[in-house]
Amino acid sequence: MNYYSLNNKDNKSSFEEAVVRGIAPDRGLYFPQNITPLPRAFFKNIENYSNEEIAFKVIEQFVGDEIPTSILKNIIKETINFEFPVVKVENNIHALELFHGPTMAFKDVGARFMARCLGYFNRDKKDENVTVLVATSGDTGGAVAHGFLGVKGVDVVILYPSGKVSDVQEKQLTTLGQNIVALEVDGVFDDCQEMVKTAFLDTEITDQRTLTSANSINVARWLPQMFYFFFAYKQLKHKNKGLVFSVPSGNFGNICAGVMAQQLGLPVHQFVASCNINDVVPNFFKSKKYTPQASKQTISNAMDVGNPSNFIRIQEVFNNDFDQLSKHISSYSFDDDTTRAVMKKIHDTTGYVTDPHGAIGYLGLKKYLQEQPLQGVFLETAHPIKFANVVEPVLGIKLELPPQIIEVIDKKKVATNIKTYQDLKEFLIKQAIHS
Ligand SMILES: *Cc1c(COP(=O)(O)O)cnc(C)c1O
Repeated sequence: MNYYSLNNKDNKSSFEEAVVRGIAPDRGLYFPQNITPLPRAFFKNIENYSNEEIAFKVIEQFVGDEIPTSILKNIIKETINFEFPVVKVENNIHALELFHGPTMAFKDVGARFMARCLGYFNRDKKDENVTVLVATSGDTGGAVAHGFLGVKGVDVVILYPSGKVSDVQEKQLTTLGQNIVALEVDGVFDDCQEMVKTAFLDTEITDQRTLTSANSINVARWLPQMFYFFFAYKQLKHKNKGLVFSVPSGNFGNICAGVMAQQLGLPVHQFVASCNINDVVPNFFKSKKYTPQASKQTISNAMDVGNPSNFIRIQEVFNNDFDQLSKHISSYSFDDDTTRAVMKKIHDTTGYVTDPHGAIGYLGLKKYLQEQPLQGVFLETAHPIKFANVVEPVLGIKLELPPQIIEVIDKKKVATNIKTYQDLKEFLIKQAIHS
């Protein structure tokens, strides 16, 4: 499969190049050259397929012959070896729980898939490991660390801002060992990101080490997210009712994968892009103008994005046609007080516990369904325990620790403190990371 750069359609790359590079040399995002709908019979019989079979059918054309079938099937098997349950919350309202993976946020699937593709593409480079360098504000680092743990030929260096990630998130980053190294940066997330960007351009480093990024715009992180929408459809198809997906959105990768699933033929009535007060996209649908903003901090912090990278891909799917876009996607914004209030209301009336991101998904879904007698699914993108500091006081309950969290919480944190870019540079030049 070929991919083109959204900056210039003549700049084409293979799947492998797109995965290894992350972003095109002209700084454009990669987009698949062709999107071929799946046969009708597949949708008719979807309940007879296993999740692994569905995932293979969905991703196959985007990988092409660049990974042998048996290996791709194995990558899928390792990527999605946990549950993706649809849970009824109210009549016609369901939660699609995407938090049953190792780090309990939906980013696990993309990170695991990408890690294994990269491992495959790097299989012959015997004495030269690739180093994945990534800055995190919380969830991405954990998912990437777990995704790449033990993947041969790949070292991972994660930069995170000291004191700015939750305890659980820090443990998920710093306790794995093997091929994963955590650097605790005396600074904020932007400092981490700046250091990473500088390192990619620093030939004194790149002469010594092959660097790559595990950024969420990588096609191997983006496209496997299509699976979720098929898995939900498989579970709800028997209800025979138009399906609405509400996706808590920040960088818009997840919802863009949903839109791609629809392009493959998945019957979806409407997508709702549910946002916190970082409302660039809701404003776009109101005003037809796309105006990036500085990001604002909220309790749903994985969605604090002022200029969502993947929105340009959604526009590409609909040929930049505003009418088509608004026919398929509605978008709303909700503030923290509204989010807290609805978390409490859902818990009081149904017993279901949402995290702040899922709660925004619920709000967007309810708003859209007011006018439509359809059934809806909101994506529960993180386990409430990851945001216990918000969930517990709002609901007045103590959350139980799931096994994935118990496993890391008492492990010993291992991180190297760094202050400056020079510290990072010395680390990358001198330090061998042993897998
Ligand atoms: C990353 C993340 C999101 C936002 O997903 P995008 O693909 O960036 O829109 C929502 N919720 C949680 C919990 C996340 O970690």
